[in-house]
Amino acid sequence: MVELRIPGPTPCPPEVLQAMTKQMIDHRGKEFGQIFTDVTDKLKQLFQTKNDLFILTGSGTGGMEAAVVNTLSPGDRVLAVSIGAFGDRFANIAKAFGADVVPLQFELGKPADPDVIRRTLREDAAIKAVLVTHNETSTGVTNDLAAISKVVKEFDKLLMVDAISSLGSLDLPVDEWHCDVAISGSQKGWMVPPGLTMVSFSQEAWRAHAQAKMPRFYWDFTQAKNFLARGGQTPWTPAVATVYAFSAALNILAEEGLPNIVARHARIGKKVRNGVKALGLKLLADEKYASNTVTAVWPPEGVDPGNLRRVLREKHQVVLAGGQGKLDGKIFRIGHLGWVDEANIERVLLCLKLTLEEIAPVKAQQTVK
Ligand SMILES: *Cc1c(COP(=O)(O)O)cnc(C)c1O
Repeated sequence: MVELRIPGPTPCPPEVLQAMTKQMIDHRGKEFGQIFTDVTDKLKQLFQTKNDLFILTGSGTGGMEAAVVNTLSPGDRVLAVSIGAFGDRFANIAKAFGADVVPLQFELGKPADPDVIRRTLREDAAIKAVLVTHNETSTGVTNDLAAISKVVKEFDKLLMVDAISSLGSLDLPVDEWHCDVAISGSQKGWMVPPGLTMVSFSQEAWRAHAQAKMPRFYWDFTQAKNFLARGGQTPWTPAVATVYAFSAALNILAEEGLPNIVARHARIGKKVRNGVKALGLKLLADEKYASNTVTAVWPPEGVDPGNLRRVLREKHQVVLAGGQGKLDGKIFRIGHLGWVDEANIERVLLCLKLTLEEIAPVKAQQTVK
């Protein structure tokens, strides 16, 4: 069996796949409305929020765009905190819709420094909103969002969080950390196929929405809210089969319980990091901030990560991800979110060891016990 260990799409349990084979129903009918309302309510619990939450048909990037266009106007000054490719993407979306983006980039592998954010906000009073990535999937770093949130709220700015690869896997109490907008995507830790993005939206975000003039149609939250209030409808046809899948996945997640889910990801994350280091490989991330959902790894010197991944895939059926942006061709990444346990990681580590021995025999013998 293929061991898919990329940071999304992630493997889906059989019950989730089975749920997708159910016949289509009227998306304006009572049955769908009940399922959609139930999925929305259960997601709010896992987001740890009482805010509005919208399930939109699109990928995570669509959710990021929805966050931007529903809260901002062209010319609004926005601080875009970036620690990698997905932070850059958030900034680029805001730029594309005419925001006056102030980029704040940190070194790859490092988290954002809350003190630098504080200094920036103090010196630039015109900033209205802060965009930040909770878990930077391209580098395997988790920002200290609690600390960042505190700073952002010292200055009373709108906080918009890309939590696409963290929500449902890492602890992110959306209300306690005052996230005005928090975004996730079905194909990450939720064990659901791609197709849905979920966005929570606070009262403060609604106040911004009332003034926001960026062009929007498909993503308009006024529409989403009005339709949701009609017994669980969406303005446009939703990805019905993916909603079925979500409903099944949420039952599995509820059975495990959020504290156990978070603890499992912490345990697995540590196992991956320790295992990779035991093979003599170096992590990209500052280990204090290493992500429990994805690990970015430098290959041994002289080993092409593309070749390493090819051998892993073709010979061992283990599928890992490559690098993105500036890290393309330089690193490889192991996804460990969603439907994953110790046995999956043991297989990945064993196959990685065998592959390294095969393609870098001298190095591997020196470092592998
Ligand atoms: C996967 C991911 C995205 C993009 O999601 P798509 O579903 O591919 O549009 C954005 N941000 C982060 C942190 C991600 O992990």
